[in-house]
Amino acid sequence: MKIVLVGAGLAAQRCAETLRALGHDGPIAMYGDEPHPPYDRPPLSKAFLKGERPTVQLRPDVWYRDHDVDFRHQRIESLDGLEYDRALIATGATPVALEALPHAHTLRTREDAIALDEALATTRHLAIIGAGLIGQEVASAAVARGVRTTLIDAAERPFDALM
Ligand SMILES: Cc1cc2nc3c(=O)[nH]c(=O)nc-3n(C[C@H](O)[C@H](O)[C@H](O)COP(=O)(O)OP(=O)(O)OC[C@H]3O[C@@H](n4cnc5c(N)ncnc54)[C@H](O)[C@@H]3O)c2cc1C
Repeated sequence: MKIVLVGAGLAAQRCAETLRALGHDGPIAMYGDEPHPPYDRPPLSKAFLKGERPTVQLRPDVWYRDHDVDFRHQRIESLDGLEYDRALIATGATPVALEALPHAHTLRTREDAIALDEALATTRHLAIIGAGLIGQEVASAAVARGVRTTLIDAAERPFDALM
């Protein structure tokens, strides 16, 4: 049975690992639109904003060869044309798109985190739109670096929308 995993994040990675652990010996193809195999995002809003660059890739490159998981850097627009018996769509979440403004960042990928970390080095005032977990972690990192920080949210207080 050929399995296709669309999206190469934590969910796809754990799915591939579980299939192999349960003895699935058919082909597994994993398609991801980021140029690296699955990685852990939590350090992006923590260590990365302190200038650190820990290894975040969930498994080393050799794991994919050893477990016969075919990772391909490719954005999938449709399942039409892909050969599979079962497909898992594990494409995650993307930040709500706002009109692009100069000096505006989003924080989802490793590259986003590096760009934000570098920008913070020369930022005097940071406005963060969204006072959820990630917004607050960025605020904490920015304040620790001496950046004046304003958190903006539709809710009256941080986390109100989650209660
Ligand atoms: C900055 C940050 C900090 C976080 N911190 C924490 C934390 O401290 N604790 C915690 O529990 N969680 C945290 N999270 C959330 C956690 O990272 C997510 O819950 C987890 O990444 C979800 O995994 P996923 O595989 O569902 O999706 P993702 O990790 O989003 O993976 C989906 C992948 O699919 C790719 N993709 C999307 N569309 C396509 C397509 N059409 N074709 C091919 N590929 C596609 C995406 O680019 C992405 O690489 C954080 C997230 C971020 C962004």
